[in-house]
Amino acid sequence: MAENKKGKTSEFLCHNFPGIKQEPLEIRLLNHPLPYPDGWKAGEMHCHSEFSSDPVEFGAPLKLMQETADAVGLDFVLCTDHSYDFYYRRESFLEPMNAEENFAEYRSQAEALNAGHPNLPTLVPGEEVSCGNSQGENVHLLTFGHPQFLPGLGDGGRRGFKNHPDLTIAETLKRLNGTPSFAAHPKAKIGWLERKIFRRGEWREEDLESDSVRGLQFWNGNLGADYRDGKAFWIQQLLKGRRILPIAANDAHGDFNQNIGVKFPLISLYQGRSHLFGKVRTLVPSASKDTASLREAFLGEHCVCTDGPFVSLTRDGNGIHIDARSNGDFGALQTLQIYVGTTGDIAERLLKEWNFTDGSLNLNDLFPAPASSYVRAEVSTENGNRALSSALFLN
Ligand SMILES: [Zn+2]
Ligand SMILES: [Zn+2]
Repeated sequence: MAENKKGKTSEFLCHNFPGIKQEPLEIRLLNHPLPYPDGWKAGEMHCHSEFSSDPVEFGAPLKLMQETADAVGLDFVLCTDHSYDFYYRRESFLEPMNAEENFAEYRSQAEALNAGHPNLPTLVPGEEVSCGNSQGENVHLLTFGHPQFLPGLGDGGRRGFKNHPDLTIAETLKRLNGTPSFAAHPKAKIGWLERKIFRRGEWREEDLESDSVRGLQFWNGNLGADYRDGKAFWIQQLLKGRRILPIAANDAHGDFNQNIGVKFPLISLYQGRSHLFGKVRTLVPSASKDTASLREAFLGEHCVCTDGPFVSLTRDGNGIHIDARSNGDFGALQTLQIYVGTTGDIAERLLKEWNFTDGSLNLNDLFPAPASSYVRAEVSTENGNRALSSALFLN
């Protein structure tokens, strides 16, 4: 039920899917601006439009994604539709079509929306490419707006047990020719059925050897085991000297308010509140929100992953400057940790920690640069929100 300013009410039906409850939409109005410094741009880095359409998944029209991104305070959206869905018509998902033509249509729709609405968030038409890891299993790679379609039918489930990857990760990266790309949900839990039927696997250290993958999207809409294991994997890579970015995103399939998906094909559905569009996000320093500037930013070494606050470290002479910010909506800063790592070590070390009790919304501080290879920060707020910075390499 919704009421407009004149008191007129209208009733909307969220869905009439069988087997799941009709829960009300949740609407949150923030009382304060988002706590990001000027010169940073916030984006959704993994989401699906209606070009991801198959028997078990779907997505939203690009126009709606652009409008929703604006409503939730994003500057850009990296659309990452499945490589295997471009081979089929979105309005009739069992009918094959030319994947290159479908991909070109997707790109031109996104570009027309960007040109027609320069004040709305930028849509970057990327792809979630299914490619082969070192074990010959399908893993997903998110690409930041490359011009040519990248093939990948391996785990699309539409060619029976012919589920071998089309291209390896290295072959895919070669075709990307420098376009930033990110390992999607690198340590997601994969059921035995998914392993058998779709030959799905996880990202491994060997898969990052070429050093061309710019980031690991281990924050995938929630803080479960995928996050814990993916973050540990990221830290292992930092300790190997790999200058790799942490990426936060949601893998939303048109889920703007609640997340509804297929639990068991043809049998049951589920609904939840994780994997919501724009809920967790990645910030990059960039003067402009156009695709070329954002692409440059992701080739750099700085970003912030957050579901609320902001935290970043920068070099300042012989010191490290820390900038942490929250607002009244996310609550006062609660804890802040600085971790350091040295290439070749097996674990990081906690260098410094704050436990705030004074209701501070900001911290600006300078501490001496440690004798380590890198330093990074994590912050949490009173209302349970958190942010983590990319690693600042010191030599
Ligand atoms: Zn995926
Ligand atoms: Zn996805």
